Amino acid sequence: MTKECGGCTLCCRGTLTVQVNEHKVYPGHACPHVVDSGCSIHADPSKPEICDAYRCVWLQQPDMPDWMRPDKVGFILTESDAYPSAVMLTADFDSGRIDGTALFYAIDWCKLKKKTMFYTAKSPATGEYIRGNIMNHPDSFYRTGSMDEIFEPIELFNDG
Ligand code: SF4
Ligand code: SF4
Repeated sequence: MTKECGGCTLCCRGTLTVQVNEHKVYPGHACPHVVDSGCSIHADPSKPEICDAYRCVWLQQPDMPDWMRPDKVGFILTESDAYPSAVMLTADFDSGRIDGTALFYAIDWCKLKKKTMFYTAKSPATGEYIRGNIMNHPDSFYRTGSMDEIFEPIELFNDG
């Protein structure tokens, strides 16, 4: 069964970074075109290709349960063809809330797939995103970075 985003719009709300025409969408800066039902410029040809192409892990994986939908758990998991041994967990910047049960589920899922989990999450100390990784299996590797470096998280998947 093909999954649909349903009521989730988390990737358009500044959790992930994307340039939408003149608008930069990044932590704390939602896309101006996002509405509760999804994208208000769905049929607009000026919409970037990534908007149609992006599918989070939850959407891609038929076996990942409904309760793991990103808006329900407070984070998005992203895979990249360019960096197949990693998964990026990006926490909901606005709520700053991560569901603990879901986090353990995600760590186990990555471990089973032998993927290193990177995270970007809101720092309680600074209120900004910080990046790190979870040594979730013996072959995990370590990367970290500054706020500037996470402005375009997909870069992380391209230079490893
Ligand atoms: S985070 Fe995933 S489920 Fe939510 S809107 Fe984006 S692609 Fe859809
Ligand atoms: S243009 Fe639409 S799909 Fe793209 S980020 Fe904005 S609301 Fe989301």
